[in-house]
Amino acid sequence: MEKIKMTTPLVEMDGDEMTRILWKMIKEELLLPYIDLNTEYYDLGLVHRNETDDQVTVDSALATKKYGVAVKCATITPNAARMSEYHLKEMWKSPNGTIRAILDGTVFRAPIVVKGIEPTVRTWKKPITIARHAYGDVYKATEMKIPGPGKAELVFTSADGTEMRETIQEFDGPGIIQGMHNINKSIESFARSCFNYALDTKQDIWFATKDTISKKYDHTFKDIFQEIYDKEYDGKFRAAGIEYFYTLIDDAVARVIRSEGGYIWACKNYDGDVMSDMVATAFGSLAMMTSVLVSPDGYYEYEAAHGTVQRHYYKHLKGEETSTNSVATIFAWTGALRKRGELDGNQELEAFADRLEKATISTIESGKMTKDLALITTLPDVTVQSSEAFIKAIRATMDAM
Ligand code: NAP
Ligand code: MG
Repeated sequence: MEKIKMTTPLVEMDGDEMTRILWKMIKEELLLPYIDLNTEYYDLGLVHRNETDDQVTVDSALATKKYGVAVKCATITPNAARMSEYHLKEMWKSPNGTIRAILDGTVFRAPIVVKGIEPTVRTWKKPITIARHAYGDVYKATEMKIPGPGKAELVFTSADGTEMRETIQEFDGPGIIQGMHNINKSIESFARSCFNYALDTKQDIWFATKDTISKKYDHTFKDIFQEIYDKEYDGKFRAAGIEYFYTLIDDAVARVIRSEGGYIWACKNYDGDVMSDMVATAFGSLAMMTSVLVSPDGYYEYEAAHGTVQRHYYKHLKGEETSTNSVATIFAWTGALRKRGELDGNQELEAFADRLEKATISTIESGKMTKDLALITTLPDVTVQSSEAFIKAIRATMDAM
C-alpha cells in the first residue's frame, strides 16, 4: 500500500517521561507505516528546553503560527524537585503557558467516548466539550486581608487623571476583599474561538455566567458574546443548523446533568477549571480526555489533557512493565492530522485520522485495554495490555480493517 503524502508540515512538539515513550511508539507503529509523515520537529523535552534556555518552546509556538497546526506531547512543568533532577539553569515556565501566551485562545477539552466505559451520568450519550477561557478573573486577582474597622473602595484612575470610585464595604471588623479583572479584547477572542469551534465541529454552544448578580462584570461577558454572535455568526450558525444558547450558570449545571451531551459548554476561567474536571471524571478517565488550544487567528494545537505520567515512567526506567493509556495522545495526533488534512484539502489524511480513531475505539471495545480502563469497564471479557501491547493491538485492528 502506498503511504499517504502530506503537503504542509505539522508542527511536532515532543515531550517528557512516559508520554515521550508512548509518542515514539505511536509514531513507529501507528503513523509511519501509513503516512509519509511531514513534521517540523521541536524537542520540548525538559533536557532540550534547558539547553536552549527555553527558546525551543517559543520557536515551536512561532512555527505553529506559520503552519497553523501543532501536536504536542505532555511536558514537565518544572518545580523545585525537577530543578535538581534535571540540573536546570532556571525553573522554566510551563510550556503550555508560554505557548498560550503567544497563540492566545481558548482550550477545548472533550472526552473520548467508548462502549464499556460508561458515564456516571446515565443520560449522557455524546461527549460534552468544555471551552475554558484561559485569562484573568480570580487567576489574576489582588487580595487583601482587612485587619479591622475601615472603608474598602474600588478606585480607577484613568489615563487623563479622572477618578471612578465605589465603596466595597464599610467594615466594622476584620474581613477580606478581592479585586479581579478581565479585558474586553480577551473576552472577544474567547467568544470568537468558541463560535469558530462550534462551526468547526457542528455542535451547539452554551455559555453561562451569573449576570443577574454580577450586573457589570459577568454581564459584560454576556453582552460581548451576544454582540459578536449577532454581528458575525448568526447567519453562519443558521446555515450550519447549530445554535448559540445563553443561560445562567446554575441553570446550565442542571441542564448539563439532564442532557444527552453533544454540545460545547463555554465557561469563564474558574467555572472551566472546576467543570472540566467534573466532566472528565464523570465520563470515566483523564486518560481519555483530549485537549485543543484554538487561537482567534485560527491556529490549532492538539494534546492530551493528562500529564507525563511520571509514576509509570519511573517503573519503566526500572525495567518493569507499564500499562499506560495512549488513547488521548493518539487522539491528539489524529486531531492534528485531520485538521492538517482539512486545511490542505487532503482527504486521504482526514480519512486516515478517522480510521485510526475507529481502530483505537474498537480495540478497547473488543476487550483489549490498559489497566486504568480495565478497572472501570463494564465489559465482561477484558485482557489488560501493556503500554506497548495496546498500541500493537491497535495496529493489528488497523491492518484488519
Ligand atoms: P499525570 O501525568 O496526569 O498523572 C497523574 C496520574 O493519573 C498518574 O500517576 C496515573 O495514575 C493517572 N494517569 C494519567 N494519565 C494516564 C495515562 N495516560 N494512563 C494511565 N494512567 C494515567 O499528572 P502528574 O503526575 O500530576 O504530573 C506529571 C507531570 O506532568 C508533571 O511534571 C506535570 O508538570 C506534567 N503535566 C503536564 C501537562 C501537559 O503537558 N499538558 C499537564 C499536566 C501535568 P496511577 O499512577 O494511579 O496509575
Ligand atoms: Mg483544575
